Amino acid sequence: MATMSATTATPSKDLASIEKRVTALLSKMTLAEKVGQMSQRDGNDGFAPDYLVDALRAGRVGSVINAVDVDVINELQRIAIEESRLGIPLLIGRDVIHGFKTIMPIPLGQAASWNVDVVRDGASIAAREAAANGINWTFAPMIDITRDPRWGRIAESLGEDPFLASKLAVAMVQGFQGDDLADDSTIAATAKHFAGYGASESGKDYNTTNIPENELRNVHLQTFNAAVDAGVATLMTSFSDLDGIPATASQFLLQQVLRDEWQFDGVVVSDWDSIRQLSIHGLTENDRESAFEAVTAGVNMEMHGDAYRKHLEDLVNEGHVPLARVDEMVASILRTKFRLGLFESPYVDTSAIVNGNDALAVAKRAALESVVLLKNDAAVLPLSADTINSIAVIGPLADAPYEQLGTWTFDGDPALSVTGLQAIIDFVGDGVNVTYERAMETSRSRDTATFHDAVEKARDADVAVLFLGEEAILSGEAHSRANIDLPGAQAELVRQVRATGTPVIAVIMAGRPLTLLNILDDVDAILYAWHPGTMGGPAIADLLFGVESPSGKLPVSFPRLVGQVPIYYAHKNTGKPPTPDTVVEFDDIDTRAPQTSFGMTAYHLDAGYKPLFEFGYGLSYTEFTYENIRVDKGEIGLGDTVTISAKLTNIGKIKGVEIAQLYIRDLVGNVTRPVKELRGFKRVRLDPGQTATIDFQLHTDDLAFYGRNMQLMTEPGKFHAWIGGSSETDLRTEFRIVDQD
Ligand code: BGC
Repeated sequence: MATMSATTATPSKDLASIEKRVTALLSKMTLAEKVGQMSQRDGNDGFAPDYLVDALRAGRVGSVINAVDVDVINELQRIAIEESRLGIPLLIGRDVIHGFKTIMPIPLGQAASWNVDVVRDGASIAAREAAANGINWTFAPMIDITRDPRWGRIAESLGEDPFLASKLAVAMVQGFQGDDLADDSTIAATAKHFAGYGASESGKDYNTTNIPENELRNVHLQTFNAAVDAGVATLMTSFSDLDGIPATASQFLLQQVLRDEWQFDGVVVSDWDSIRQLSIHGLTENDRESAFEAVTAGVNMEMHGDAYRKHLEDLVNEGHVPLARVDEMVASILRTKFRLGLFESPYVDTSAIVNGNDALAVAKRAALESVVLLKNDAAVLPLSADTINSIAVIGPLADAPYEQLGTWTFDGDPALSVTGLQAIIDFVGDGVNVTYERAMETSRSRDTATFHDAVEKARDADVAVLFLGEEAILSGEAHSRANIDLPGAQAELVRQVRATGTPVIAVIMAGRPLTLLNILDDVDAILYAWHPGTMGGPAIADLLFGVESPSGKLPVSFPRLVGQVPIYYAHKNTGKPPTPDTVVEFDDIDTRAPQTSFGMTAYHLDAGYKPLFEFGYGLSYTEFTYENIRVDKGEIGLGDTVTISAKLTNIGKIKGVEIAQLYIRDLVGNVTRPVKELRGFKRVRLDPGQTATIDFQLHTDDLAFYGRNMQLMTEPGKFHAWIGGSSETDLRTEFRIVDQD
């Protein structure tokens, strides 16, 4: 068996020798060259701009963003290495968010797979394709916890839950970075946006966030902590303002939490121009002050702006910023370049590029597992190509190769996309008549005069499959919505098709949870496909026709009405929690009813207190039951492990995959604790009639939380534990942690 010692470690992993090389190189650098390393400059799609070439020769550039032509990138590297004084290679950064050429489902869709392997494999394909194009640094994963579907960037996120998102964040980091950053097919990952961006007020992008430190630590920082523990190479600051300090200037986040508490030694990059924006926020008067704030907080590299380039040298020369601070910032950049193996292998050998044909298979598996079956009345799905003679395919997203890719797909190739319409035609072959009507120009069209042909085609068909939702451009950065219903006249289209009496299947492609109440009763089934990526069509066809049973579960709650937002399962109990008995029917409220006549609990009179579809929810073509929940010990001491188990049975007629979920509640804490928190999940494949015992081990450290003094602690006391198929499971047991002292 091979053993790895310091002397046999690959150069990228020999940390001691990397530190020596960093120190040696740093000692040769002028202040101008150091500031150069801290500057990221914009590239260009097809050529190397003159300003960039000049800056490279002068050693004034550490990284280039948005150069994508592999020959240009090789040339930029050559100039940096051969024509600058010290020959330091470049970090080549690009937003490779959910695929490069081959596009996986949007991250929120991938999160619905609850499958770390799917997520890791998707990132690894993306890394391989990007690396073959000379990119060595991606600005992903985006791991902001968000509980606001209005926010366009929810599409890029891994959902509302810190436990699920942390597991998937680690998988993405591993997928991008592999076992060795220096491999030719791996790239440096970026955990972004540090921190709190997902709590932007009213879901409006770039907006202020107000997050008390306890919630910040228990919810928003969890994913970042996990990514840092998993070795993520870099972090990006958030555009947002947290407790009065924009994150790009936050010493609390960048120094205290990230460096002092978590011992992060990689690179923090600003977001696009976010250093100069400190003045727009009103924190600083000018770019010079902004550069001071950012370097003092610990931003190693400025993306796009020129505050560092123009002011950092003066700030050091005039004694405002210690040279040692600049040295620290630059050391992290050099360290990352050494770990990436850039000094040994800076160029892409274009003759050796292998485009593996497994990328489409990985994209199809990811799409298959990300689709969530929200409704399936009378088992209308799966369809049988043997019993159906005709299908009407309708809607603005049925044949939309670009739109199905979703947001942030700069390099994605729509020519590779297989749409739902194409895939259905391919699947059924000649035996079934497939008709198609787009019916609406875009998802936002309001003209119902165009519905006539679609309705007639639906009337003539055995089943109507409607591809609805929102185009890629309606989610993502700066694409927030205040109304999250299906846009335009889509609900009316559903009603008119429904009126034909033909069964209606809705396939919804969207970058966020949409409010579906106004179509729910008019459709027989809903497959929620998010933006499913390149292979969305074949995955959807396989699900429609039952080649596979849907297995996705929601990584985020779906509100009934947008006014319920933020709505999430891990909420606090409040002092006046509602129950089904305390909720009144809105329409039945008597106008003269006394103020307290129907109790005083925490809910909306016109929406109740539950979401339309809860976190963790998702149906299958088969049915699963959970029973017999047990704990192996009713009492454990601090440092012990408890095992919680339940019996899971497939009581349906076909095989299927269920994602079994473990939730806990810490009943009493020195700060109040959520009513339920996810603490485990497992994918289980069962044949009809098959039973499995699902067990979860919980160490008392897994029950730790940040308490009143912001210290991580597990408190003795009583815990509830549930196992089930969603966050609304009521199959419960309990155990106690006892204080042995
Ligand atoms: C986004 C980042 C992204 C960067 C570079 C910014 O506007 O907030 O997430 O990585 O642009 O494209």
